[in-house]
Formats: sequence, structure tokens, C-alpha cells
Amino acid sequence: MSIPSLIEADRRHLIHPVVSYRAHEARGVTVLESAQGVFLRDIDGNALLDAFSGLWCVNTGYGHQSIVDAAAKQMARLPYATGYFHFGSEPAIQLAAKLVELSPASLQHVYFTLGGSDAVDSALRFITHYYNATGRPSKKHIIALQRGYHGSSAIGAGLTALPAFHRNFDVPLPTQHHIPSPYAYRNDYADDDALIAASVAALEAKVEALGADNVAAFFCEPIQGSGGVIVPPVGWLKAMREACRKLGILFVADEVITGFGRTGPLFACEAEGVEPDLMTVAKGLTAGYAPMGAVLMSDAVYQGIADGSDVSAAIGHGHTYSAHPVSAAIGLEVMRLYHEGGLLANGIARAPRFAQGLDALLAHPLVGDSRHRGLLGALELVSDKDTRQGFDASLKLPDRIAAAAYGNGLVFRAFGDNILGFAPALCYTESEFDMLFERLEKTLDEVL
Ligand code: PLP
Repeated sequence: MSIPSLIEADRRHLIHPVVSYRAHEARGVTVLESAQGVFLRDIDGNALLDAFSGLWCVNTGYGHQSIVDAAAKQMARLPYATGYFHFGSEPAIQLAAKLVELSPASLQHVYFTLGGSDAVDSALRFITHYYNATGRPSKKHIIALQRGYHGSSAIGAGLTALPAFHRNFDVPLPTQHHIPSPYAYRNDYADDDALIAASVAALEAKVEALGADNVAAFFCEPIQGSGGVIVPPVGWLKAMREACRKLGILFVADEVITGFGRTGPLFACEAEGVEPDLMTVAKGLTAGYAPMGAVLMSDAVYQGIADGSDVSAAIGHGHTYSAHPVSAAIGLEVMRLYHEGGLLANGIARAPRFAQGLDALLAHPLVGDSRHRGLLGALELVSDKDTRQGFDASLKLPDRIAAAAYGNGLVFRAFGDNILGFAPALCYTESEFDMLFERLEKTLDEVL
């Protein structure tokens, strides 16, 4: 197909996630043709430095031959094995065991999904099942954070707290609630301890208002991603986990973005010694080379479900592609690359350079805040640094900056609310960081 016909076919037939359909038809698609390392090539031949790892997932970088080989080998050997009923495949079983070995000690059981949204959805179903099976059917309410993102499944979108995911979709449900985000830059907390205390108090107040007997769980991202990379202080995650324990509700860590080295250690929970009741993962699990997510479950939740269920009755939850052997083979090779391949170590070693590059831009007239942990970061744009006043949304400044950056050979993520997000691959070199920040600064100067 010629480039114009491709663009026309896209306009006519392909529905893109999270765009205005009419705006997309008018703008047309940017077709990516290939990628290698941390560089993308579009169909017009432009080379682009990817500072967002695709959609916070290609943590390994592109074109890893060992991942391609693992996938091809598994495809040739056994391209599909149902995980339904009592079947399984070697890579899926090995990957489940590997995840249990690598994740917080509380997590002993793994349910594979196709991505993050259905991992969140599955976690919600398991939680409902758990409380029904353990004789506490009134525990149905779920609490999450404002600005949180937990995917766009029919139920999970209600836990997400971004307006576009609610508007027109009749969520959140009456059982879904949101407490304030730990957003230091947009709140006047005296210090980190005050922020942590405010979050704990908000959770306690919400549980009290709903009645502890009616509340099932608290879901959170250890660092909020799609809500604008909101980085709570160290200690926040542990405090929220402990609060859930005291309140008698399950604590669910959604590590779809923060998992697999994005914030330094393999999981953000690990850094604070947090042991969740459930954890959702995806993205870096296969580094985007194939779709896969997972729910990791504590033994207590698993045993509650298993003991409380009729042994002869099937548990009615499943996906045809759960534990897909090709995705699992990819996941196993990606896990090897994180550890033996040195990716985690490289991500940790490069994080100070990333932080320094973002923080240096605080001197730029457009930048009010720089926040980061590991290789996850954001800049927040302001028109007045003293008042922290953002630019009017109608200016669409982040979109304009992202478009200008594209012209300078750089791709990152523009969020509403004047936020630019960055999630470079764990394999970034020093000189690739130099290139990122040179191109970014040039772009910011151009739009000034
Ligand atoms: N949870 C979090 C924290 C996410 O960031 C995302 C996606 O960005 C999801 C869930 C949904 O994952 P997916 O897009 O794979 O369905």
C-alpha cells in the first residue's frame, strides 16, 4: 500500500484508543515502520529517539534478537496451549514460578491475562469471589486514587479516575470511590510526613463513611503514571499498605507501569518492603513484544477462594489466551534480560543522569516541577512559577511541544494538565540521555 492509501485506510477503518475519532480522522495517523535499540523509524524515514518505551512497556529496547528467537522457537514448538481446564505449557508454568520467586514474598499464585486492563478486571473478580467465598459478601466497595489509571475495562475504568474514561461510559459505579492523589506539587502539605498522614486519613475516613464491613479493597499505583507521573514520597506506599491491614481491607498494588525495573528495583513495592495482597502487572512483563499481564495473588486470598468454593464446581473466570505460551516464552527471556542481561542494573545506574537532566530543566522558563523515580519522570509546565499557574488547556501546550519534539526526532508523552511524561528504556546509554535532553531543551526553547 502507498503511504496515502495507508493513511486513508486508517481513517476509514481503524479505531484508535484514546483519541477523538473526528480529530484523528482530520490529523491522520503516524505510521511507525521499524525500530532498533531505542530508536523508532516512521514510514517517512524519520528516525526518532523513543523516550517513552512505546507506551511505558518496551523496557528492554527494540530488536532484541534473543526475545525474537525465544518467540520463534516457542511458536514453532507449541504456538498455543489452552490454560483452561487442566492443560498448561512449560513456559507459562516456568514464568509463573519465576514471578513468584521475584515478587514480594506475600504473592504465591499467578493468573495470566492479556494486558493490564484485564489484570485489573480479574483482580476485581477475584476480590469479589474471595469475600463471597469467605462469608463476607457485603464487602463490595473499592477505593482508589484520584488521577489514578487502572485501565479501561468495563468495570476497571471506574477505578481509573481520569475524566475521559468516565464521561459517556456510566462509571464509576456506586461501589467505586476515589480519595485525593498524593500530588505534592498541587497541594500545600507542610512536608512529606504531612502528605502521607493526609492520604492515610483520607483512606480511613472513606472506609469509616462506607463502613469497614462494606469495603473490599484499596487499589493504587505506587507512582501514578497516566495521571501525570505523580511520585509520592518514600514511605507513602508502606503507610497505605499498613492502613489497609488495620482497616481490614485488601491492598492491591497496580504495578503495570512501575513493575519490571521502571522505578529501579524489579517492583516498586520491593523498595519499601511492601507485601500486597494482590498485584497487577503487564507492560514490562513481556517488554511489549507480545501481549501479557498477570494478577499475582497472596496465599491467603488464594486459599480463601479455594476453601470457600465448591470443589466440584468450576471457577467461572478465564480467558482463551490466558498463559499464552509464546507470550510466556517472551516473558521468560525478558526476565533473564532484566537480571542476567544487566538491564535492571543499567536502569539503576542511569537513573541519576535521568534525574539530573529533568531537574536541570527546572531552570527553563516553562518548567515548574520535575519529578522522577528510577526511569519514570515528568515535567510540569507553568506560566508562572511563583503561583504555579498552568497554561490554559485550550492552548494544548503539551501537544504542541510533543509535535515540535517529533520534528526534532524525539518522542515522549504529552498529558493534559500541562505535563510531559518520560519513561526511557532500561538500556539507555549515557549518550542517548545526552541526546534526549539536548532535543528536549531545543524543543522547549522553540515553543517558548
Ligand atoms: N494499570 C495501569 C497502572 C496502567 O498504567 C495501565 C495502562 O497504562 C493499565 C492498568 C491498563 O493496561 P493495558 O493498557 O495493558 O490494558
